[in-house]
Amino acid sequence: MAEAEHPPCIFCKIAAKTAPAYLVYEDSSTAAFLDLFPFTRGHLLVIPKRHAARLTDLPFDDQVALLRSVDTLCRRTERLTPDYNLALNAGANAGQIVFHVHFHVIPRYGETNPFQTGGRVRVDDADAQELVRELGRA
Ligand code: AMP
Ligand code: ZN
Repeated sequence: MAEAEHPPCIFCKIAAKTAPAYLVYEDSSTAAFLDLFPFTRGHLLVIPKRHAARLTDLPFDDQVALLRSVDTLCRRTERLTPDYNLALNAGANAGQIVFHVHFHVIPRYGETNPFQTGGRVRVDDADAQELVRELGRA
């Protein structure tokens, strides 16, 4: 459940129903609601009720419950459109502004996809091999 923070975290308040939200889903450990400033119509946020800044701060059982709810909300998003982006911003440099972990489910209707904005160059082979060594080990 929500933990006290100073100042209180807005997503904890939404989970505790002490702040308003367009709630679309709730179970004992997760909730989902409309993003107040959506990229597209139906843009959702899926959160654990337990406060954690990052996914990796969350106990594994809560991570599992969160992913189960993400699956539920992705399926419901398909009522709007079959296409969507699933995103998680971890840390300020990744664009995280609310430090309570959340997945974005962003329906796509044919507008510009932020992951297809151009300016991308093929990965450098030497760097790719270094990355495979670094990220490929347990
Ligand atoms: P992020 O950049 O991943 O931290 O995204 C935080 C998201 O939360 C943004 O897309 C905001 O529009 C959204 N947001 C902030 N406050 C609220 C709120 N009270 N209710 C719903 N969405 C919110
Ligand atoms: Zn919180």
